[in-house]
Amino acid sequence: MFSEPSALRVHSIFWLVYFCFNCIMADSTNAAYLPPGKYAIAIHGGAGIEPAKLTIKEKAAYETALSDCLAVGEKILAGGGTALDAVEQTIRALEEEPLFNAGRGAVFNSAGKHELDASIMDGSTRACGAVASVSTVRNPISLARIVMTDTKQVLLIAEGAEKLADRYPRIERVSNDWFSTPERRKEWEEKRAKLKAKEEAKDAGPASKGTVGCVALDKAGHLAAGTSTGGMTNKPVGRIGDSPIIGAGTYAEDGVCAVSCTGTGEEFIRTNAAFHLAALIRYKKLPLAEATEELLTKILPADAGGIISLDASGNVSLRHNTSGMSQASLDANGKRVVSLGSP
Ligand code: ASP
Repeated sequence: MFSEPSALRVHSIFWLVYFCFNCIMADSTNAAYLPPGKYAIAIHGGAGIEPAKLTIKEKAAYETALSDCLAVGEKILAGGGTALDAVEQTIRALEEEPLFNAGRGAVFNSAGKHELDASIMDGSTRACGAVASVSTVRNPISLARIVMTDTKQVLLIAEGAEKLADRYPRIERVSNDWFSTPERRKEWEEKRAKLKAKEEAKDAGPASKGTVGCVALDKAGHLAAGTSTGGMTNKPVGRIGDSPIIGAGTYAEDGVCAVSCTGTGEEFIRTNAAFHLAALIRYKKLPLAEATEELLTKILPADAGGIISLDASGNVSLRHNTSGMSQASLDANGKRVVSLGSP
């Protein structure tokens, strides 16, 4: 029916369309579109919160703290700063806020002390750093960043991490009881009273209120993520959760996503939760919202915790399968959320 040249043209157009379609599908995670000048950020303050049990005043205190801490990163990103700086500085602000379980206000371990964990990851290079079981470092997230930038290691713990901190005057040190607050002591004492008849060492307690995390996307399209925590109330000495484990509690990869998790750390470690989310996007080509849904409903057990994430287009996902999660975000379209989760 077609003359020879037209058939050839149709055939060529078909293959061109087919080729382009395959290129787009094969690299859809990197084909994200971030409008010029746009950025996005999300934070969490833990998934152990029970909004229904809070007074109006307590809710307001959480919301104010979340808004103030979000504003720290927002200002950096709006001014053209990097996602990495936004993550570090926002988490420092969260660590300074005693309402949250990171830095001051960290939970007590079974020996009545504080052992802090933190990690940070640069999505543009996959550089990452983490510290665990530190006890005198006021802002563990900044020491995690030093591990990332100034050492060949990824994770340093306890005495080794403290020795690294000794070399940096800008890493502020405090006595261990500086992290204590009366609220956390009460929570710990109540937990111990409940466990008295049981075997304490086997129970690290319910998801604590207030691990903190931040994910950010800067105007250059780079992603970063970080997480910082005191762990779980009454945790055994030396116990380390998911927060300082790259791929479990924290992960960032440009073109894919940035993730920070919170909840029962052991569940997030055994499911490689943060990288699992990235893998669902990268290999299964799921949009961020669907990938998070699959992870939270099919992979992680009920009541495990929550996940905040951002994709390369600045879409935000804030999800939890516990009774609440303190969270705040600003997506690339300017939509702002400050919430303690449902109900
Ligand atoms: N994931 C933290 C841990 O297991 C605790 C939390 O997020 O509440 O140490």
